[in-house]
Order: sequence, then C-alpha cells, then structure tokens
Amino acid sequence: MIKVCKFGGTSMADAKAMLQAKSIIESDSSRRYVVVSAPGKRNKGDIKITDMLYRCYNEVVETGTCAKSFAIIKERFIQIVKDLGLTFDIESILNETEKQIDEEKSADFSASRGEYLSARVFAELLGAKFVDSADMVRFDSRGNLNQEYTDDKVKTCLENVDFAVIPGFYGKGSNGKIKTFSRGGSDISGSIVARGVKADLYENWTDVSGFLVCDPRIVPEAKVIKSLTYKELRELSYMGASVLHSESIFPVMKSRIPINIKNTFKPDDAGTMIVPTEKYEDDTNNSIITGIAGKKDFTVIYIEKSLMNSEVGFIRKVLSVVEHHGLCIEHVPSGIDTLSLVLESEQLKDGILNDLVNEIRENVNPDYVHVIENVSLIATVGHGMTRRSGTAAKLFSALAKEGINIKMIDQGSSELNIIIGVNNSDYENCIRTIYNAFN
Ligand code: ASP
Repeated sequence: MIKVCKFGGTSMADAKAMLQAKSIIESDSSRRYVVVSAPGKRNKGDIKITDMLYRCYNEVVETGTCAKSFAIIKERFIQIVKDLGLTFDIESILNETEKQIDEEKSADFSASRGEYLSARVFAELLGAKFVDSADMVRFDSRGNLNQEYTDDKVKTCLENVDFAVIPGFYGKGSNGKIKTFSRGGSDISGSIVARGVKADLYENWTDVSGFLVCDPRIVPEAKVIKSLTYKELRELSYMGASVLHSESIFPVMKSRIPINIKNTFKPDDAGTMIVPTEKYEDDTNNSIITGIAGKKDFTVIYIEKSLMNSEVGFIRKVLSVVEHHGLCIEHVPSGIDTLSLVLESEQLKDGILNDLVNEIRENVNPDYVHVIENVSLIATVGHGMTRRSGTAAKLFSALAKEGINIKMIDQGSSELNIIIGVNNSDYENCIRTIYNAFN
C-alpha cells in the first residue's frame, strides 16, 4: 500500500502545524511520499509566504533587490526551524535563495521558493529525502503539463526512495526555467506524484474536513459530502468550491486513484472521498444532489435570428468572433431561433464587450442582440439525478416559490448537473433555496 500525502499551507504554517502533520505521517507507514505547500496563514490577518514571494518579485523589478520583503520570509523560516528544535542550517539556504530571486527576476521562480523552503525544512524534520519537483515536473512549450515526461521522471526519481518530501506548485518549463502552476497548484503536484508512484490513495490534508454540500457562509448547517466522483468534483470545484484545485483530478483520473480530503487538525474525521465513478461504498446518504456551487459576475449575450437553426454555419461564425478575441465561453444555451453566450464579465472589460457585440452583428446579421450583465451561475451537481425524474421540477418549483427569476438554464446531456443563471442579487438566496429543497 502506498499513500501520497499533500499538506496545504495551513498544515505548514508554523512549527506546531508541522509537528501535527508529522504525527499524521508517522502514524501510518504507507504514507511514504509527502508533497507540501508553502507556509500559509497562521491567523486571519497573516500573509501567505507565496504572497510575500510575489512581493519579493515586485521589489526586485522596482529596486533591483528583494531584501526588504525577503527579510520577513527569512524571519518566519528561521522561527519555524528554531521552534522545531532543528539544528539545520536554514540561514545559508535562505541567503542563497535571496540571491537567486534577485538574479532570476522571475515571478514564477520567486513564488516557487515557498514550497522549496517548506519542503527542505519538512524533509529535515521527518528524516526523509528531499526530492525537487524541478527534476520531475515538466511543462511543454505551451505551458501545459508534459505528462509523459513527468511520469517517467517521477518514476525514476522516486522508485528507489522509500520516504520523500517533494515541494508542490512548480516544475520546469520547456526553456529549463522554473515554472509554477496556477495558485493552489500544489494539489496538482500531489496528484502527479500519486500517479507517478502508482499510489493506492492520494490524501490531500487541509484545514477543513472535506467538501461541504455548499458554501457554509451561505448555509452554515451545510453537511460534509462523504463521497463524490471525479466528474462531480470537477463541476463543483470549477464552479467555485475551493477545497481542491479544479485541475487536480486529471493526473490521477486515468489511474483511477481515489483522493481523500482530510483535515490535519481533525485527523479522525473521515473527510471526503473522491472516487472514479460510482459512489463510495461507505456512503450511506445516497442523495440525489451531491453539491451546489456557484460563481458571480457573468455576462450573457443573447442573440436572436429567425430561422437560425436552418442557417448553415451560424453558430460557427458566432463562435469564431469570440475565438478571434481569445475569450473563453462558459456555456452556450440555445433555442430554435436563439443562442446565448455566457462569458465571465472580467474578460469583457475595457470595451471588449462592445467590440464583440458589434462584430457579432456584422458577421451574422441577427434580428436582435441583447446583453445581460451581473449574472451568477449556480450548478446543482449530482450523479443521483441521472435517469431520475423530478429533480428539475423540485429545483425550479422551489425557486419559483421564492420568487427567484431564472435567466438561463443549461443541463448537460450527462444529467450530472443543472446550471442556472440568476441575478447576482439572488445568488445567496438561490443557493439556500436549492439546499433546503433537497435536504
Ligand atoms: N503556495 C501556492 C499558493 O498559495 C500553491 C499552493 O499552496 O498550492 O497558491
């Protein structure tokens, strides 16, 4: 049995948290490969080391040296090592790192050093081997993970190592320079290692006891989801459920390695199991709805044209305009003579929305184009809906009773989710209403 454990920023935040993570690892000898984040926040007002490192980069660009911002990072790591009672010479490593940040002048390199330093200290604490992800994780020239190369490297670097600590969040680009994933990317690193060592389980240790059915700031009594499938997870995390990076499932997906979200500070809680397809056998709640997640601030461009359905190439022409602007589309709900494009409003700033609408008018000559802004998307996700009637009826009647106006509906043919668009001002009420309807 091999388990890969990834510990997030709060689990690495200070000596106390690191010792807690150590006791978890030592309580199970199958926990052999440990991936770590940079130290995160110790309390609400605290600053994450990664954020401090981005400041270091800005300081280098502006002044030529990161000395001022790096001093805070130095102090924090020296304190951690001291509190852990280690005799490890972290000061030399910190000085070398500071010099490299000044020389490299790269945002990715600077940001990656939090995980690097964290892993160096944690490896020392555990008596494990430090194995650098720069030697294993590789991106291609387009910035995507080079899975084949990475798999091979993880295998060769770790096959003769019994116990290792690996920094998350970064690898090397095709130019040989350090490159990071997007924020929260250590979750992806953990998944890469789990796949590479053919782990039986990928444990993702964080500061909550798993995924909740919905955001507890909106529904304080929201229950923990005992199990969900990769696909459900992808839908929920893409739509804003932030426990795990939305791309973390891809590396483990093919190998069908389950992911267990666990709480470092409540290790006895079962957490959430993320499994390839069917429900986890321990899951007795067997509900129709697995989770509800959503995001605010979308724009809907509604296009109407008579006989649109018989005009060959109509949708392609509309999509080409969007593609030409390099924009991503979230959804394309359509009717016989209507087509809507749903895009993140953030992408449409600085006159882009106007340009887009004008170009659509020029290219497809529609009868009518209408823009609806301040739209929230809410996804109600659950394999339980598949081939079961009445789910949509229940959802929509509950919303109707609350007087919530639905601006858009999209249900994929997988029947895995129902996505609706509502006014931003109805967002919280909508999530609460859906939760209450199914619980
Ligand atoms: N430390 C990085 C961040 O704050 C990566 C991670 O923790 O996953 O985004």
